[in-house]
Amino acid sequence: MTDLAGTIHFRGLVAFPFRPARVHPELRGTIRPPRRSARAGRGWAWETLGRPERAGSLKACLLGLAAVLLAAGPASAQPTLPSDPRSPGGAGSVGSPVRNELRPVPVPEPSEKALRYYHSGNWLWAVGQGWVLLVTGGLAFSGLSARLRTIAQRLAGNWFLTTGLYVILYLGIVFVINLPLAFYRGFVRQHAYDLSNQTLGKWFGDAVISLGVAMVVGFAFTWVPYLLMARSPRSWWLYTGILSIPFLFASMLVMPIWIDPLFNRFGPMKDQALERSILALAERAGITGSRVFEVEKSVDTKAINAYVTGVLGTKRIVLWDTLIAKLDEPELLFVMAHEMGHYVLGHVVRSILLGSIVILAGLFLVDRLGRRLIARFAQRLGFDRLSDIASVPLVLMLIQVSSLVLSPVVLAYSRYQEHEADRFALELTRTNHSGALSFVRMQAENLSNPRPGWFYKVFRSTHPSVGERIDFCNSYHPWASDQPAAVRQDPEAPLEPKPGG
Ligand SMILES: [Zn+2]
Repeated sequence: MTDLAGTIHFRGLVAFPFRPARVHPELRGTIRPPRRSARAGRGWAWETLGRPERAGSLKACLLGLAAVLLAAGPASAQPTLPSDPRSPGGAGSVGSPVRNELRPVPVPEPSEKALRYYHSGNWLWAVGQGWVLLVTGGLAFSGLSARLRTIAQRLAGNWFLTTGLYVILYLGIVFVINLPLAFYRGFVRQHAYDLSNQTLGKWFGDAVISLGVAMVVGFAFTWVPYLLMARSPRSWWLYTGILSIPFLFASMLVMPIWIDPLFNRFGPMKDQALERSILALAERAGITGSRVFEVEKSVDTKAINAYVTGVLGTKRIVLWDTLIAKLDEPELLFVMAHEMGHYVLGHVVRSILLGSIVILAGLFLVDRLGRRLIARFAQRLGFDRLSDIASVPLVLMLIQVSSLVLSPVVLAYSRYQEHEADRFALELTRTNHSGALSFVRMQAENLSNPRPGWFYKVFRSTHPSVGERIDFCNSYHPWASDQPAAVRQDPEAPLEPKPGG
């Protein structure tokens, strides 16, 4: 199915008041500059190609925020395979022969290995969902969580420290319980499919760092929703949801400077000519003052990706070194234009707004279901109020349930934004063929299934399928047909006034 323009105003989201303002320049170079670009470079892990690795236990401590993170954070898909050869006539870097950008690119058949990866991935996803329910439900209903709270109380003394200590103990225990599944999913399986370059040491080190970050964040912030639950048992979910907005903004601000560098080395781009091309493209897109970083992802994965991250002073475009190695310049610039589309179209702010609505809905469900469960099973649970810190696994279990329910909406909105960013990239670069080739590359490198089934699409896809994206590249070029007067084969050329006109 080809997702063309207006047809993708999908499922239920029409009701949301904040549809992206579309930028539909007739001509390249006429892209409206972002109204607030100088102020707030927006963007946050808007991965173009692959999918971000799961933040692991980090999200577990974010309680309310976990709803949106769980819903939006796709499972463990990771990367890759050696790619197929460059297309004939593919432009290399600067100076190579010009590619016919209107030539369609067929969607490649997925390899047998990619299909196996896809099917086993769906099963693993389902197992992972069940596992979370089992672990959180088990800890809550066995009374273990209540015992853990009693231990924390004895050690800590006051309420604030009890809350923090409980969270640290809880995260430590869950880390150990989850370790086998996480190890299989993040390490064994990735190597089995030849998608990973990671050493065991790096994998484990990253897992421990994630745990450490989760403990620090959990210690520092979990008391907030619990204090609200205690003070305002009826409306805590509303206040927590509202507070999640500044929290999300702050997370985005510090993520690229405090968190990301804990896992990978970031540096300036090595290829300065390429960097200049990217910055020139950014300028044409109306983004000023952005920085481009290269991240050494090849130590972890063979997958390819790029993203926009940070807000205000920390905004930046980040390219995985694997992407630079595997795409040629026109393909890479298309990917960059897609990322810039997220900036210019204000996707991050919109996502935060949607995220807070989803968090509100999720927390509302947690409140209603939680109180019912507590009323019925207080004996078993070992606590009689949601504001008891021992309720953490119960709350997380309910967040898991509500994010499963809400994820189709969140994912549909994400796919919509991704589609709009693809459109933006095509309008900015007019390199349809190169764009399609970048997706062909992605399919090969990341073992993607170009035509996944409905289940995958509804519950797991943050992006339109690779097949849909290639189809769109092949079909979306109004500048080549609809408006003959506006056709410019060389998009770099300034628009000439019509002779005699
Ligand atoms: Zn994107």
